Amino acid sequence: MEAEKINEILSMIDETLVLEFLETIVGFGPRMTGTYGCEKAAQYIHQEFKDLGLIARYQNWTAWGTRYYHHFYTSQNVEGTLTGTNIMDNSAIIFNAHYDSVARGPGANDDGSGTIAVLAAAYALSHFDFKRTVKFVTFSGEEIGLAGSRAYTKESYERNDSILVEINADMIGHDEGSRTMTVTATEDAGWVADIFQTINNNYTIGLTVNRGTINRVRHGMSGSDHAPFLAYGWESICCWEGDQDPNFHSARDNLSNVNLSYLVNTTRIIAATLAYLADLSETPPQVRITSPRVGFLYNAGMRKRAIDEFKTTVINDIWIWAEVDYATVPIERAEFYYDGKLVFTDTEAPFKWQFNKFSLRKHQITVLVYDQLGRNSSDWREIRFINIFKKIK
Ligand SMILES: [Zn+2]
Repeated sequence: MEAEKINEILSMIDETLVLEFLETIVGFGPRMTGTYGCEKAAQYIHQEFKDLGLIARYQNWTAWGTRYYHHFYTSQNVEGTLTGTNIMDNSAIIFNAHYDSVARGPGANDDGSGTIAVLAAAYALSHFDFKRTVKFVTFSGEEIGLAGSRAYTKESYERNDSILVEINADMIGHDEGSRTMTVTATEDAGWVADIFQTINNNYTIGLTVNRGTINRVRHGMSGSDHAPFLAYGWESICCWEGDQDPNFHSARDNLSNVNLSYLVNTTRIIAATLAYLADLSETPPQVRITSPRVGFLYNAGMRKRAIDEFKTTVINDIWIWAEVDYATVPIERAEFYYDGKLVFTDTEAPFKWQFNKFSLRKHQITVLVYDQLGRNSSDWREIRFINIFKKIK
């Protein structure tokens, strides 16, 4: 049944479908954030999501551009949600790409290719029901400093969303004959990259999947739209083409720069992986340090005010909370580490440890959870702790 579903999804994604989406998106180009071309692309994506029966939503945002272009921007992300049938499972899968481009070119590959993969996967998956919710998201503002994805993750974080994994596709349409695709994963998302490889082999997609790792640098907003997801503790997969695109950020990033049959295959492998993940009943545990929150100053355990977007400062004592997103197998224990040293083991949720040490600087807090099958997951944060008062007890 599962194989049948995936085969049907694969057969729905062909050159005709991919070309239709890509020609439309390229036709709006250049889609520089804030321009009317960018806005038209957003309207088109929103309408497509609506026509497919997804819950379509704009997320409007304003931001100061920090990369290449220093202006104030107003734009929108577009989200289409395919709601899962298992209402107990609140962990969603996110598949995203950026629909904005630089000013110089129509952005057929960067990132028209990822955008049409989102549209094509949404089209194919919308014909079926899945246990888990899948959110198809296209961001603007990537080229000006990941502005759209920063706004999106900030909102998800404030809602305390559970995200099984975020899959980003940025430039997946250029091939010079190697037929390779690079799939990079964060530390706890290697099992998702395994699925990409299994799908590629079992369904003879015909690509070579190269594996890589994503380093979780908490304040480094570099690279693509997956970066802000890392800052908030979520797991990520990035899909890239194997061959370097020499037309990147130039006027030559047009339709003739895209290898259609290759783009069909990269899109297929992502769509099939999404379908497989969305029906997977047993997943490894996922833990996130949920308090203190990223981007805030705390005093005496209370959240006071927003500080730097991705930093945390704590004055005096505080309880460190770690929460496990929807666990398909019960959690056996949570271990708390302070600068790499085990300081506390908690065997019952809610998992928390009280920080009450003397400190004048940044420390690393790590949480490691194990489920009853022995599978583990970790999360870590650098937090500035200011705690100079000796306790009189
Ligand atoms: Zn890009």
